[in-house]
Amino acid sequence: MEEYIKKIFVKLAKIPSDADPKGLTSEAKRRFELLNKVITSELENLGVEYEIDENLTIYASLESDDPKAKTIMFNSHIDTALEYPTPKGLDEIQVLEHEVIENKDIELSNGVKVLYSELKGKAGENVLTGNGEAQIGADDKCGVAIMLALAKYVRENPGFKIPNIKLVFTNNEEVGLGTQGLRYKKINADAGYCVDGDGTSGLFKQNFNAQTIIVKVSSTTVHPGYAYNKMENALVLLNKVCSKVNEQMSEPQDSKGKQGYVGLNNVSGNWSKCQASFIVRSFTFEEMKEFEDKFIQIVEQLNEETRMANIVLLLNQQPVYQNAMIELDKNPLVNELAIKAYDKVGIEAQLESVRGGFDGVDMTFAGLPTTNVFNGSHNMHGLNEWVSVQDMELSYKMCLELIELWSEQ
Ligand SMILES: [Zn+2]
Repeated sequence: MEEYIKKIFVKLAKIPSDADPKGLTSEAKRRFELLNKVITSELENLGVEYEIDENLTIYASLESDDPKAKTIMFNSHIDTALEYPTPKGLDEIQVLEHEVIENKDIELSNGVKVLYSELKGKAGENVLTGNGEAQIGADDKCGVAIMLALAKYVRENPGFKIPNIKLVFTNNEEVGLGTQGLRYKKINADAGYCVDGDGTSGLFKQNFNAQTIIVKVSSTTVHPGYAYNKMENALVLLNKVCSKVNEQMSEPQDSKGKQGYVGLNNVSGNWSKCQASFIVRSFTFEEMKEFEDKFIQIVEQLNEETRMANIVLLLNQQPVYQNAMIELDKNPLVNELAIKAYDKVGIEAQLESVRGGFDGVDMTFAGLPTTNVFNGSHNMHGLNEWVSVQDMELSYKMCLELIELWSEQ
């Protein structure tokens, strides 16, 4: 299937597909419709039924002959991240193919490189990159190509026993809108697999809990020339809050692995009224609570010391997401079968604690327990993004194993 996966991937990678934080603007719509066209014409060629909703999400189905069959979903997204927006006026992104040579970096334009240290063990494989000017969107066009290959295999092998399979292609995932308006009733699956993980071994286990904490300071100010003993500077007070937070809790740059953090991410206002917002992240509710308690202490203490100002603490501001592990663990088969499928293609699954969120989290909380499997991409969101065709093939084979395992449930 290598050639087919490569062909579809290259077709998709050529089309600029920047996510749009404003949603489906006319420009985003134009881009996403071009990408969807590639998908739907393949589905039509393969004789796979599909529907598109008002958010341009594509829902395709492959039905099992077995009336007792379970239903699984595969999901990928067509949009790409905004770290390197497609240069203005560029209508077609160049995709380059390289054969990996021992001890040799892959050099692209503008000084962009894929270092051999990253390509170790890939000698002789075919690696796809951009030309250094624009992203190829391996995140997540690899997933799209892999899912179409699954449809092709199922169609061409009618004897291959399958569960019911839903293929869901979303957009604007990179700006957090991938699952907005998603029709869960239509998908109605027992398990979900986002084909959106980088590398060739990762498997989603858990993600951060997330909340925003806001601290507001207000004070009465008077003419500064006559302010003796009559005013307190809200900005100075807010600065004290920020320093104490900083002293007592880890910032993002000091935190890794399973540690949470508190990051000051916005300050606004003047000396009579100002506020600061902090993003708070942790894998456990206990640590989230510890962070909150420290904020409460800091604010209480400073409120006692101040005479003319008032500090207010706002906990649990939106947007919030939560660690999906507890929900996902209620349906252990989702990851158990994925671990088996990895094993069948010779990979030991590495269970990942994701220091962020992803669409599977929303899906899991919406009642569709969903994990994330690898798609073979590397350096996601960078100009030095790369994917080996052989790794996409490996992901495809692993997904076929997963289908087979679910057909036996
Ligand atoms: Zn992605």
